[in-house]
Amino acid sequence: MLKGFTHARLACGCRISFREGVEGSPVTVVVAEKSPACTLSLHVRDLPLFDYREALRPSTRLGPPEEEEFEEEG
Ligand SMILES: [Zn+2]
Repeated sequence: MLKGFTHARLACGCRISFREGVEGSPVTVVVAEKSPACTLSLHVRDLPLFDYREALRPSTRLGPPEEEEFEEEG
């Protein structure tokens, strides 16, 4: 899956990438590159976009997930 379609650019200029997700979520969409022209505070580098609604509320989480650097270029 995801062959040939791993990145996309949003209208605001941000670049998003599709990663094979974790258990229960087959695809994770994250902001790979925040556009300097983007005014959306919801767009934060490495922040999963599908989670944006939760970002509008105060976090009830214990903390940010452990972020590892995965390079899936090519
Ligand atoms: Zn953006």
